[in-house]
Amino acid sequence: MTGKLFIIAGCSGVGKGTLLKIFLEKNPDIKLSISATTRTPRKNEIDGKNYFFISKQEFQDSIKNNEFLEWAEFSGNYYGTKKNFVEKTLKEGYDLILEIEVNGAKQVKNKMPDAVTIFILPPSIETLEKRLRGRKTEDEATIINRLNEANREIEAAKDFDYKIINDNLDEALNNLQKIFEKERNLKC
Ligand code: ADP
Ligand code: 5GP
Repeated sequence: MTGKLFIIAGCSGVGKGTLLKIFLEKNPDIKLSISATTRTPRKNEIDGKNYFFISKQEFQDSIKNNEFLEWAEFSGNYYGTKKNFVEKTLKEGYDLILEIEVNGAKQVKNKMPDAVTIFILPPSIETLEKRLRGRKTEDEATIINRLNEANREIEAAKDFDYKIINDNLDEALNNLQKIFEKERNLKC
C-alpha cells in the first residue's frame, strides 16, 4: 500500500519545527521531506538535514528541469519540495510530512487531493511575535517581513483540513497525534 501525504503549514515562529521534532521522535516510521532553499543557513542548521541549501541558480535549474512537486518564494527566498523524493517515499509505503508554506500547500493539494492538510495557528499574533523574537534567529527586517506574512497565511488556514492552535505544546502534540491516528486508520 502506498503511503499517505501530510502537509503541515503555519506562520513562521508558530512552533512547527518544535512540534515536528517531538512528533517524529515518537513516530519514527513517519518520514519528513527535506526541502531545498536559497535561504542562508541559521547557526545550528545542517545542510542535508534541515534543508538542502542551494544557490538561486541551482534552484532555477531545478525549476527548469521540472524537479519540484511545488515551490514558492517566501520572505525573499525560494523553497521547494523535490518530486522524486516524495514519489519514491510514498511508493515505498511510508507516510510523509511536508512542512511548507501556504502557496506550496495549495499547489500540492491541487495535484494530490488525498493529501491531508494541517494548519498550525498561534494563540495570538502577540504570542507569535514573542516566539519569533525569542528564537533569536532572524534580524529585525526579517522578523517584520515574517510577521507581515502571518496575517495572509492565517487567512489561508480556512482551506486546510485541520487546524491546531499551538498554545500549550503538549495539547498541540496530542491533537496532532490524534489527527494522524485518525487519518492513518482511514487507509486500512
Ligand atoms: P516554526 O518552525 O514554526 O518557525 P519554531 O518551532 O522554531 O517555529 O518555534 C519558534 C519558537 O517558539 C521557538 O523558540 C520554540 O521554542 C517556541 N515554541 C514553540 N512552541 C511553543 C509553545 N507551545 N509554547 C511556547 N513556546 C513555543
Ligand atoms: P524557514 O525559513 O523559517 O525555515 O521557513 C520559512 C517558510 O518556508 C516556512 O513557512 C516553511 O514551512 C516554508 N517552507 C519550508 N520548506 C518549504 C518548501 O519546500 N516549499 C514551500 N512552499 N515552503 C517551504
